[in-house]
Amino acid sequence: MPLLDRLARPLGSLRISVTDRCNLRCQYCMPEEEYVWLPRQDILQFEEIVRLVGVFTRLGVHRVRITGGEPLLRRDVTGLIRQLTASARIEDLALTTNGVLLGELAAPLRDAGLHRITVSLDTLRADRFQALTRFNQLPRVLAGIDAARACFEHVKIDSVIVRGTNDDEVVPLLDYGRAVGAEVRFIEYMDVGGATQWSPERVFSRTDMLQAVEASRGAVTPILDGSWAPADRFVLPDGTTFGIISSTTAPFCRTCDRSRLTADGLWFRCLYAREGTDLRALLRSGASDEVITDVIATVW
Ligand code: SAM
Ligand code: SF4
Repeated sequence: MPLLDRLARPLGSLRISVTDRCNLRCQYCMPEEEYVWLPRQDILQFEEIVRLVGVFTRLGVHRVRITGGEPLLRRDVTGLIRQLTASARIEDLALTTNGVLLGELAAPLRDAGLHRITVSLDTLRADRFQALTRFNQLPRVLAGIDAARACFEHVKIDSVIVRGTNDDEVVPLLDYGRAVGAEVRFIEYMDVGGATQWSPERVFSRTDMLQAVEASRGAVTPILDGSWAPADRFVLPDGTTFGIISSTTAPFCRTCDRSRLTADGLWFRCLYAREGTDLRALLRSGASDEVITDVIATVW
């Protein structure tokens, strides 16, 4: 029997942050001047992550996404991927990156057994990229996407659209995605942890996105695939597909099966949850897999 919560949602998908650090400072995520990073000893070690993933997969998790901060900054992240693919049966192992280090790491990640890559890219303009992320790294990100395309069958591009910042790039990003063979998913600006400059006026909604695409590319048809994935997918008359993640204006909680583990081992049942379960404390207190399994099952 799969583990179900009170809304009969399975525990199917887990996002694991492997570091809180980043080599960009996106306005909507890390807008402050200074950040104090977690001390090294607080970060879960690979063997701790692998052990927790073993417990989670036995409870029904079959999709795992490695994220951050910027996951490619974690030393030997390919070693973690290798350990995960060797030790647990994960149907879908994906990673989300800002792409800066992907040129060098795409092939090693594929060789380690990673299945899919998602690259975050919000603009195709170098000056805007610099303004949005504080670093002049657009050429490296684009080279990273090329490297990923050469190594992986499935590459996605995630674009957060912020009104007044990059809402004029919905169609150019769509065209870029089609040109490089990567499906684009547009993401509404969310009021999450780091988004201290968020305001409702700056949200470019799913409706706005669909109107922008329709005005220039013709009728947009929804694709009904009945999956647990958070993106609604659409197809254009020329066959181009794209997705929209509308967590702000049309939350998809009823069909969400995702939970997330922070770099320091807190397990949250939701992106928006304020309280997490301290799995690191459990691990480091010497708890057995059975005890950890019980705690996770009870919380879920
Ligand atoms: N650093 C990696 C990257 O940027 O892809 C992985 C971590 S980042 C937190 C994961 C995703 O969250 C990125 O696609 C990013 O654009 C998105 N994100 C961050 N802050 C957001 C916000 N306030 N609203 C919507 N999406 C956000
Ligand atoms: Fe870094 Fe990703 Fe946040 Fe941008 S969205 S600051 S790349 S963690």
